[in-house]
Amino acid sequence: MSEVRHDWSKEEILAIYNKPMMELLYEAATIHREHHDPNTVQVSTLLSIKTGGCPEDCGYCPQAARYHTDIEGNDLMKVSQVKAQALRAKASGSSRVCMGAAWRNVKDGPEFDQVLEMVRTINKLDMEVCCTLGMITENQAKRLAEAGLYAYNHNLDTSEDYYKDVISTRAFEDRLETIDNVRKSNVTVCSGGIIGMGEQLEDRAGMLVALASLNPQPESVPINALVAVEGTPMAEMEPVSIWDMIRMVATTRIVMPETQVRLSAGRTEMSREGQAMCFFAGANSIFAGDKLLTTPNPDVNEDMAMFKLLGLNPQKPFEKVAQPSTTEAADSELTPLGEKPKWTRPAHKIERNEIAKNKTKLVE
Ligand code: SF4
Repeated sequence: MSEVRHDWSKEEILAIYNKPMMELLYEAATIHREHHDPNTVQVSTLLSIKTGGCPEDCGYCPQAARYHTDIEGNDLMKVSQVKAQALRAKASGSSRVCMGAAWRNVKDGPEFDQVLEMVRTINKLDMEVCCTLGMITENQAKRLAEAGLYAYNHNLDTSEDYYKDVISTRAFEDRLETIDNVRKSNVTVCSGGIIGMGEQLEDRAGMLVALASLNPQPESVPINALVAVEGTPMAEMEPVSIWDMIRMVATTRIVMPETQVRLSAGRTEMSREGQAMCFFAGANSIFAGDKLLTTPNPDVNEDMAMFKLLGLNPQKPFEKVAQPSTTEAADSELTPLGEKPKWTRPAHKIERNEIAKNKTKLVE
């Protein structure tokens, strides 16, 4: 049985990534079988509970307020709306709901209380609940845990070196600090990244070094292919080749053998054959539903037809980690601290982000 290592070097990971394809696939598939059922793939549903208007400048993101994109923003959804969508997702085979809010960081107050109620509601539907709400403090992570949160997503996005070319409104260390805060609660960690943002192969390897060296490694690692959206600084990026996706998934599987590897954004551009190779290489989760936050995603019926074709079974909830209990708001032992943490704001200039922002001004 392959061991979990936290001391991978960038060179070792690059050597894996660049192996002849058949060697890479064989090694990844072998490790995958040692740790997971190769015929089981988790279906997760991503809900955008608060869309657009984000103050951050992530170069890939159509939800950043500073870029001129076509997405329709909305205020925080009601708990009843979220419950209805979670029930629909459950009926179509999802065992996990991930709720995303376009916030820089979580602030204590009525909106966070509403999110806590959403977490309680979905956990009571016996589904795994994940949130991606931006940077959070230890107290906020513990309050989410108490409500019954199963996982917190906070992607590293790319390597520490390339991060400065993608985002200027916060630093890589802030990401690590949030992950560390989540680890101080009993919530599992979901953290991955995006390929196709103009990074070098060294950056892909660098991101995997950073993720694999976390101890414990994240329980979940989403691998996204950039969906280049008109109006964002990365609108003109070339689409990621399926072979790059397969290599990235296989390498992730090898360096993080126990992790759930999630084939995330960019699936609409992949053929069934391409996705099947990603599953063979160790991907064991997909996101279902016709939208991934704001970008297109395959229809759930198409996915279920693909599962049937490949003989795949949707994973049941809580197969990896037991269901957390839910504490009602009235019984909570944790109080909001009203903290004002000093998250970093490097504010260096990223040329393509500036160009996209200035185009927005011209359109306005
Ligand atoms: S990725 Fe998240 S933090 Fe960055 S701009 Fe988009 S919504 Fe905001």
